[in-house]
Amino acid sequence: MIRRIRRWVEPWLPRAWRKGTPIPDSLWRRTVASLPFLESLNLREQNKLHKLCAHFLQEKEFHGAHGLEVTDEMAMSVAAQACLPLLHIAMPDGRKPPRSASALEWYDDFVGIVLQPGAALARRETRDAAGVVHQYEEALAGEAMDRGPVMLSWDEVSKAADLASSGRNVVIHEFVHKIDMRGMAFGSGADGAPPLHTKALGSDSIEAAQAHWRQTMSRAYNDFQEAVARAERFGQPAPWLDPYGAKAPAEFFAVCAEAFFVQPEAFAIEFPAVHAMFDAFFRPLARTKPLSVPKKR
Ligand SMILES: [Zn+2]
Repeated sequence: MIRRIRRWVEPWLPRAWRKGTPIPDSLWRRTVASLPFLESLNLREQNKLHKLCAHFLQEKEFHGAHGLEVTDEMAMSVAAQACLPLLHIAMPDGRKPPRSASALEWYDDFVGIVLQPGAALARRETRDAAGVVHQYEEALAGEAMDRGPVMLSWDEVSKAADLASSGRNVVIHEFVHKIDMRGMAFGSGADGAPPLHTKALGSDSIEAAQAHWRQTMSRAYNDFQEAVARAERFGQPAPWLDPYGAKAPAEFFAVCAEAFFVQPEAFAIEFPAVHAMFDAFFRPLARTKPLSVPKKR
């Protein structure tokens, strides 16, 4: 009886008093074994990720679009990938998370996660220099709406293990957009710079941390845009990172974060400065030493 009352009451309690949704061991083991970038975590990290997932699954609501039935396997897979960027991150205000699941505060602005069977078509509008409005449809593998739900294509999510070899991950991409959007004025959109606190990135002021972030990202973004343009126009070898990152600074941040979490060694070689900065932002609480970066050949 007490357990039944607790199950009914628990979602209404503050996060610190909740235990989260129980995750069957077999489901957890299958999820970790199915994703190479989770399997390579050490046991302490996997246990922490498990706690984050238990709370994530309790707090978020999954919806299947176009008749898609969301199974426990699907929700578990999304939860584990969405929580990976939170594993060693500080709280948005820079504090050390007081409990394992506290870092979920980064995702507090929304509840819904919509899984589409395949890519979703979004209507877009642009206005050209002559003032003519052009309407078109864009196929999306995912979308994160400011203070709104996250949409993901299950077709894309289900390929996560294979796509990891090329540094891609749609779940991490969309949830990093959420981290980027945190604290922004409504309607202003992600800009590729997450909120930084005074001590972030080893700086002694917010302004210094922001300047360091801006300079590091804009230098890498400009180089990447040039490399993508050279590949498209002159047939030079395409960069290893997903060229979608050349679309806008916010996309560059999300695409880099995908590679940082699922192909850290390759990302460290290609983008050593961004890798070091991401290590300071996403992993200030990591007990393991940062990855040693091999020299670029
Ligand atoms: Zn994006």
